This record gives sequence, structure tokens and C-alpha cells, in this order.
Amino acid sequence: MKYDVVVVGAGPAGLSAAVEMKRKGLSTLVLDKGSIVNSIQNFPPSMIFFSTVELLEIAGIPFVASSPHPTRIDAVNYYSRVAGSNRIEFRGNSRVLCVNRISNGADSFQVEVKNEVTSEVNFFAAEKVVVSTGFYDHPNLLGVPGETLPHVSHYYNEPGRHFGQRVVIIGGKNSAVEAALDLYRHGVAVVLVHRGDSLGKSVKYWILPDIENRIKNHEITAFFNTRVLEINPAGIMVDVKGRTENIGCDFVYALTGYHPDISFLREVGIDVDAQTGIPGHNPKTLESKVPGVYVAGSIVAGYDCNKIFIENGREHGKLIAADMVR
Ligand code: NAP
Repeated sequence: MKYDVVVVGAGPAGLSAAVEMKRKGLSTLVLDKGSIVNSIQNFPPSMIFFSTVELLEIAGIPFVASSPHPTRIDAVNYYSRVAGSNRIEFRGNSRVLCVNRISNGADSFQVEVKNEVTSEVNFFAAEKVVVSTGFYDHPNLLGVPGETLPHVSHYYNEPGRHFGQRVVIIGGKNSAVEAALDLYRHGVAVVLVHRGDSLGKSVKYWILPDIENRIKNHEITAFFNTRVLEINPAGIMVDVKGRTENIGCDFVYALTGYHPDISFLREVGIDVDAQTGIPGHNPKTLESKVPGVYVAGSIVAGYDCNKIFIENGREHGKLIAADMVR
């Protein structure tokens, strides 16, 4: 079966693009190596979005929740419902291995896909491809010994399992601050370790005073200007302004942000700026330098994961669909 469009990545940006394609009458298949809105499914279970429902809704379809700031589960339900009611053809557990250009008069693509459960490999033909693979699968690594130990994670989950423990959080922006406060309020001794001299400017204004007061009152211990040297089974070794110090702990959350899968973009043939991680593209159409291959969602901003969110990435599909039918 040949599709007009194959969308790689079933996050909000990929789904909104798929709805826009369908509205233009283009046959569309959405592939994801996990489930629908896989990243959101893996956010902390109790997570509440900073954004409001009207900024998170896609394709103009109202998002109704009991609070203006929806929960993770509200969002999963909403995006699943949008995909279902728009009859989006979706294949989950489908990892795209490569996108090959086929030249037979008009260019088109062959998308090679491996099923993550059965390991079966399938091929799908498409006139156009939209890559919206997000960044949540690729944490920014510290690159220090011990980072892969079992008591280290780049994804915050639930506080309850850490009750009575001492937990180190590395990072100084929203994920780190939210996790620190959540753990502190669930009986955990929290140590925040940040390389900067203060918390990040992007920390939301309604949580900043809370964390600052917890630090001021010595309820949360904070180390600024501090570099992690090593993680070991009993704690972490840090450099605090030239002084080496050991911080004992039971668990480490390295909440150091995420980045797009640059190697996948390059394999697809998209050139990526080595410094910014931004894929070469036309900002008006989001078509990459590979004719017929488009980029959508957070990957458009490269390494800067504080630039394109659901609320602006959701607009990408309209630009792409308009260009495809032009
Ligand atoms: P982030 O904004 O990229 O922040 C990463 C933090 O880790 C920064 O403080 C950074 O330091 C530090 N860091 C990065 N690499 C490091 C390294 N090699 N060594 C030491 N420290 C390092 O990531 P995030 O906080 O996970 O946020 C990601 C996105 O999710 C943001 O858009 C955020 O707004 C969003 N978010 C939303 C919610 C919500 O809706 N409830 C909650 C959390 C996050 P520097 O400050 O020095 O760069």
C-alpha cells in the first residue's frame, strides 16, 4: 500500500500534522516506536501540565478537562480521542529504521519499519514523509562514571518509593525543581545539585518562590556552581567551586534535559547544524533540504527544548499540509 504521507512520531505535533493531512484528503499513516503520545505516557504519573487546555488542543478540537491545567492522563485521553475520532491510521511499536528515496520518474520514499515486539520488518511506500520524533527519548547525559548504575535515572517518576531516602537531583530548571518539591513533600531528604549559580530563568514563576523558600529554610539542600564528577553506589562525588565533596544518597535523578535523535535525522538525509542541532529546513513550509521530507514539533528547534512546545508545534501540520497540496 502506498500512502501520500507517512508521519514518523505520534506525539501531539505528529498527530496534529496527520489530522491536517487527512483534512486535505491525503492518505496518511502514523508510525511510532512506542504507543500514541508515548512521551506523555512516560511523564510522571501525577504530572500537571504548565500549559492550559486551550494551548494543548490540536487541530482546533476542543480539549475539555476538569481543570484549566490538565493532568498527564487527561492529555493521553484527549490525544487518543482525537486520533480515534479522526480515524488516524496508526501503527505502534513500529521503529523506523530508515527512509529511502526511490526515484522512478517522481520521487517517493520507502520507509523501513521494525516491529519492536515481533522484530518483523515491513516496508511502506510514501510520497512524502513528516519527521516529528520529539526529544524525550534522548536525555542529555552527564558523561560521568556511574551514570548507568541502577539507582540513577533521567526520568522522574513517583515520590512514594523514595520515602525516608536521601535523593540527589541534578539540574536547575523545571523538571528538577518540580521533582525536588514533590519529593520533599513526600518525606524525602532532597539535595539539589546544579552547575549554574542560580536556578534557571525558565523556572515557572509560580514554583520559583516555593523552591527558593525551601532552600532558604534548609528544607532542601542546594549546591550551586557544582559539577558532578562521578556517581557511585553510595552517592555522588562533586566539584564545588574547586573543592571535591561526596554527597551520600540512595537515588539520583539526573534531570538534565533532553535532545532530538540527531543521528536518525541524518540517516534520513536531513542536514543538522552541529552546534544548534537544528535540522536544515524552510521555515515557511518546514520542508527539509530533502525534497518531500518535512520536520515538525520540537525537533525543529534542535537542542533548545525550551522553544517549541505542544502549543506552537501543533501549528506545524497546517504549514506542511498546505505546502504538500500546493
Ligand atoms: P531543561 O529545561 O533543558 O533543563 C535542564 C537542566 O539540566 C538545566 O538546568 C541545565 O543546566 C542542566 N543540565 C543540562 N546538561 C547538563 C549537564 N551535562 N550537567 C549538568 N547539568 C546539566 O530540561 P527540563 O527541566 O527537563 O525541561 C524540559 C522541558 O519540559 C521544558 O520545556 C520544560 O518547561 C518542560 N517541563 C514541563 C513541565 C510541566 O508542564 N509540568 C514540567 C517539567 C518540565 P543549565 O541551566 O546550566 O543549562
